[in-house]
Amino acid sequence: MAKLIMVSNRLPVKVEPDGTSKRTTGGLASALEGGAIDHEQVWVGWPGGAVEDFDDLEKVRAGLEQEGVRPVFLSQDELDGFYEGYSNSTLWPLLHYMVERARFSQSWWQAYQDVNRKFADTILEVAEEGDLVWIHDYQLFLVPMMLRGRKLGLRVGFFLHTPFCTSELFRVLPDRAAILEGVLGADVVGFHTYNYLRHFRSSILRVLGLETETEGMWHEGREVKMGVYPIGHNRTMFEEVMGGPEFPEVLERHRADLDGKRLILNVERLDYTKGIPEKLGAMRRFLELHPEKRNEVMFLLIAVPSRQGVKEYDELTEEVQREVGAINGKFGKVGHSPVQFLHRGFPLADLAALYVLCDVCLVTPLRDGMNLVAKEFVDCQRMEDGLSAGVLILSEFAGAATELSQALHVNPYDVDDVATAVNRALEMPEAERRERIEAMRPRLRKNHSGAWAKQFIGDLNRVPMRDERAPTMKLRPLAGDLAKRVKAGEKLGLFLDYDGTLRGFVDVPEDAVPDPGLPQLLAELASVDGLSVAVVSGRAPAFLEEHLGGLGVTLVGEHGFRWLDGGEGEWALFNPHVNNEWKSGLREHLEQVSLETPGTHVEEKASALVWHYRAADPEFGEWRARSLLDEVTAMAANLPVTVHHGKKIVEVSSLQVSKGEAVDYLIKQWQCGIALVAGDDQTDETMIALEPEGVEFLSVKVGKGSTRAVYRTDITGLRVFLEEFRECLKR
Ligand code: UDP
Repeated sequence: MAKLIMVSNRLPVKVEPDGTSKRTTGGLASALEGGAIDHEQVWVGWPGGAVEDFDDLEKVRAGLEQEGVRPVFLSQDELDGFYEGYSNSTLWPLLHYMVERARFSQSWWQAYQDVNRKFADTILEVAEEGDLVWIHDYQLFLVPMMLRGRKLGLRVGFFLHTPFCTSELFRVLPDRAAILEGVLGADVVGFHTYNYLRHFRSSILRVLGLETETEGMWHEGREVKMGVYPIGHNRTMFEEVMGGPEFPEVLERHRADLDGKRLILNVERLDYTKGIPEKLGAMRRFLELHPEKRNEVMFLLIAVPSRQGVKEYDELTEEVQREVGAINGKFGKVGHSPVQFLHRGFPLADLAALYVLCDVCLVTPLRDGMNLVAKEFVDCQRMEDGLSAGVLILSEFAGAATELSQALHVNPYDVDDVATAVNRALEMPEAERRERIEAMRPRLRKNHSGAWAKQFIGDLNRVPMRDERAPTMKLRPLAGDLAKRVKAGEKLGLFLDYDGTLRGFVDVPEDAVPDPGLPQLLAELASVDGLSVAVVSGRAPAFLEEHLGGLGVTLVGEHGFRWLDGGEGEWALFNPHVNNEWKSGLREHLEQVSLETPGTHVEEKASALVWHYRAADPEFGEWRARSLLDEVTAMAANLPVTVHHGKKIVEVSSLQVSKGEAVDYLIKQWQCGIALVAGDDQTDETMIALEPEGVEFLSVKVGKGSTRAVYRTDITGLRVFLEEFRECLKR
């Protein structure tokens, strides 16, 4: 069975000072435990520390390999640039919407690329055909693409544990395009929430200019699936400690410590994304507004130390300590300080006990990918054991807010909102508290961390293997077969659309000239005996003749209105009796719409009118195109035209003209025994849908979208096929 190669910056191991290593529990590692995952597992990651700190590297490596870990050792310089620099000081703040904290440096970016490559190289050392590779988080954005083309037959997944910020912020990143391309190397890309997925898609649209569907996209000959997989908490670990023999005693100890005070609990890493100063502002406000409760409540702030020694974090710690002191100075009394700040981590049993005992759990990050504390708190409530249910106050900017709809949602920047919610929670009757917990708990218990991992791995397992990725992969072997038959004397016609099929789209259509290798390729194909080639395009004759004329390739322009036999001489009409009287009424409407929609224009063709919106704002253009489609369809109901929505165009064209009619004519004219047509949009479907009698007919759809074609590929895939065909013809 295939292996599962887990790849994360941090590993689930602890390297001891003597160089030996031990597996740790928690986090990702425990999500894969409990028999839910059948695959043998190997971990690839950084073992912690700088390589210079290890006396005996080989011993450490051997110890780690015994634990199923392939280490990626990093030098202090690499850690400074890749980890502290690009990962933590550029990406982390930006993805959490804190653009003013993000810093940019060319040398960090270089280190990030180098270290991502080290990760990719290490994966390739262990990976075998068919293995699943699951890459985690923002430190490793480039790794999926770095695996592509180096070892075929890997199923690659990428999961982002942080938010993916809006494209308006993501665009700030100088290396935005490379990061997105990096992720698109994966077969499955996962996020915690639909919003993060939405932002990722709009970044792809705005930065790379590529369109996607909610469920994914077609990219470089592969399908990239995108999905929402909200991570769950580690249910088993909490069940175990709460069911353990010591738990009642831990619970009693904390109950006694509380001495009858009502506990408002906060648990988080001390990180600026968690909004601790803002929360202290809300506590201050609450204590100001409710003097009667000052002696009744205890705000317990458990802040697990994070990135100590980094200036920004040390300053945050000092700021929190100062403010806690100030609040207690103002609102405390002899024997009671309303805010307690504990700057350390706690054993799980203590956390669970505090979750059980608190009246309110206050989770107010400014941004958080998910937030597991919120989920753990809800799951740990034990009303059935006669204990009171707590109330969850949850920031609307935490990923968990989408799942925990019965929490009291707050805007963490609004101190009055949070202070009011705290009071509402304290006053909430027991029945309502229970109801809210009971509504949220079942789904959390089902979607725990193990179920999350299982779902993602299940989707990764469903990625078709290389040789199953039909029909794309099947197109290439066809080249050899067709070449053999042409050489044996059979007549083949190749009918190729231009834009979106032989050439990608650009903002200005005139700039979409053929790349240097294309005319040569087409000319060589057209020069082969028994092989006829036509470029069948919507373009006007002048463009086609300028760039593809004189090659021996027949040119068909204006969607099958005119043609230039062999690419030379005079253009002829397929149908000289086309009636174009319908144009005048529609032209006016299209021109008015283009006036109202910046970046759009109307093109008049011999037998068609085309509204182009490629240069418009992509989402606005798409929306306007849809309504225009309805309007024009209604206006043209009794006219001899067809209306279609193509790639960044809405086109009204005469029913008497189509690419299909033109190709049908040429197949007969050339007496083809075999015909291959390739195209990317709706106008090409008129040729794809042909069923010429007595002809072996092969059809290829380029890109996504519904089609009747037998094969599907993308621009690169078609090009590879044509080049291979040329080589086979020469052999
Ligand atoms: N946690 C812990 N010890 C502590 C406090 C918290 O192990 O003293 C755990 C907590 O149970 C939770 C995790 O730390 O599982 C915090 O995860 P969360 O998603 O809330 O925030 P992150 O730190 O990942 O941003």
